[in-house]
Amino acid sequence: MKVGFVYDPIYLKHNTGQHPENARRLEAIISHLERTGLKQQLIPIKPCAASTEELSLVHNEHYISHIRDVAQKGGGWLDADTVMSSNSYEAALYAAGGVIRAAEAVMNGEVDSAFALVRPPGHHATCEQAMGFCLFNNLAIATKYALTNYKLERILIVDFDVHHGNGTQAAFYDNPRVLYISTHQYPFYPGTGSIKETGSGAAEGSTINIPLPAGSGDTEYLEVFEQIIVPAAIRFKPRLILVSAGYDTHWADELALMQVSVTGFAQMVKIIKGLADELCNGRLVFSLEGGYNLTALAASIKATFDMLLGNATIEDPLGQSPPRFEAPSIASLIKKIKEIHNLS
Ligand SMILES: [Zn+2]
Repeated sequence: MKVGFVYDPIYLKHNTGQHPENARRLEAIISHLERTGLKQQLIPIKPCAASTEELSLVHNEHYISHIRDVAQKGGGWLDADTVMSSNSYEAALYAAGGVIRAAEAVMNGEVDSAFALVRPPGHHATCEQAMGFCLFNNLAIATKYALTNYKLERILIVDFDVHHGNGTQAAFYDNPRVLYISTHQYPFYPGTGSIKETGSGAAEGSTINIPLPAGSGDTEYLEVFEQIIVPAAIRFKPRLILVSAGYDTHWADELALMQVSVTGFAQMVKIIKGLADELCNGRLVFSLEGGYNLTALAASIKATFDMLLGNATIEDPLGQSPPRFEAPSIASLIKKIKEIHNLS
């Protein structure tokens, strides 16, 4: 099993200061992969900078030049959550280019699957707005790139970040060739992602939102994967699967209130990998979104790679969540979503 990873020190130069989304996240991931010997099992993929033309697949030119200008002036805050430094534009070009390269490597058969370990993250960024720590929508750009350059008929995006990927949803809301499925805490930032947002026009039904109550953990996520994501993916028959991989769903993460464990992430990845193997020759690309508890993040990403490599065991140093919540009941939510999307 050939598994690639995209990484470059340029991603550390997006300097956000005292912010939860900071360079220490990637440093913790890389040093954990090195320390555990996992990195040696992976094939490095070198990112390049996305071109303006590639960014324009998702973002308008005025927005792109605005981000470049803010960096040239030394950086600054774009909204209450999102900050840039002088090197952030360049890092963001390589983040978008990194996910493109990961998709190319998978499509060209250089690797079976790949994980782009990039920052800044992307799934909140819209065509004309930075938000939620995101500048360019790396995964949406790579999706459009793959649709165009490889003439793929259909791409599935699974987004298990704890936040709804409003930017990615918006990029494909009227595009029937992309099925966007998101699990997220709800109600929560950024406010979008209700079950009623299902796509528009010819793309009606190609957005599936699974808004979960705070306190949802491994049991609830696996239930949702088995009951909704698996049958929806099988029906859609994707030619490639991309994953917005956010690990802020972990119980130890301080930005949200979900209860997923490292073991839970591994099980979710195993299901997604099974879908890729069954439906699209294993073609699978992960892109890093959130995840702010460094121990949980590094362990979860190692577990993700272990699953992609087909390694028999994973390590879960943090274990299951201490009991903080009563297990939420999601049976009626699942039933409603299955009705809306005609999933039997
Ligand atoms: Zn997030």
